[in-house]
Amino acid sequence: MNTERPSIRDFDFNLIWEYFIQFDRQGPGSPDTTIKALSFIDNLNDESKIADLGCGTGGQTMILAQNTKARITALDLFPGAINKLNNNAETLGVQDRVKGIVGSMDNLPFKPGEFDVVWSEGAIDSVGFEKCLNHWKKFLKKGGFIAVTNLTWFTNDRPAELEEYYLREVPTIGTMGENLSILQNAGYLPIAAFALPESCWSDVYYAPQEAASVKLLEKHAGNKAVEEFVRNMRIEAELFSKYKQHFGYAFNIGKKIDDDNISRTR
Ligand code: SAH
Repeated sequence: MNTERPSIRDFDFNLIWEYFIQFDRQGPGSPDTTIKALSFIDNLNDESKIADLGCGTGGQTMILAQNTKARITALDLFPGAINKLNNNAETLGVQDRVKGIVGSMDNLPFKPGEFDVVWSEGAIDSVGFEKCLNHWKKFLKKGGFIAVTNLTWFTNDRPAELEEYYLREVPTIGTMGENLSILQNAGYLPIAAFALPESCWSDVYYAPQEAASVKLLEKHAGNKAVEEFVRNMRIEAELFSKYKQHFGYAFNIGKKIDDDNISRTR
């Protein structure tokens, strides 16, 4: 495989967003899996606070808003996504308890212990699973929950072509078991982990992309950067259909361990 192939990070941010902003979600996921993950989280009420990090245009944010009474702060780097999210919140009539803000996941503008839940779908790998679990913990209340999806190996032996592609995108990608250890070592009790079904990728993520790619190529006819971007997205989609038994996303749900009373003997 061509090792000179660009990574998604090499493309212009505006081009990536011109493509992705038209979709309801910018990563694999679905209302059903968001609701399933939410079912592991107890005691949410109208005073609870959820942070949804790397929220994109808020596909999962609206599901959280419709299935809890909590107040939700949704954060993303991209202002256009946050505008769309805030408009969608108004359309759904949840603007009083859902606020989108621009910010970075690796430097959160929140107070320590502010949140009952930290949520993040399809975004943590761009900063790093372990790094974020450690950084985000201080913003959780005692006994607060974390629920994130991340790219995960589903098998122990993977085809070289697949490994080569994804190790460039996400150098820290691990198996379900490795991720649970990282969660535990970061100070959370693992509550649940489940692999997202294939339809979260094929139906939600890739199906709308083909028509969108054709439209993008037409609009920017002759633009080499756009052609390269579309080629990259198509390679990624092909790798998925060829090797989907080896990898995917998993939800990892943990509960912050209250370590106030643990005496350190080591
Ligand atoms: N959660 C959404 C979006 C996933 S795409 C969904 O599942 O549909 C990943 C998102 O993470 C993008 O919106 C991107 O802008 C955002 N992102 C990437 N790095 C970020 C960072 N450092 N801080 C905040 N958001 C980031």
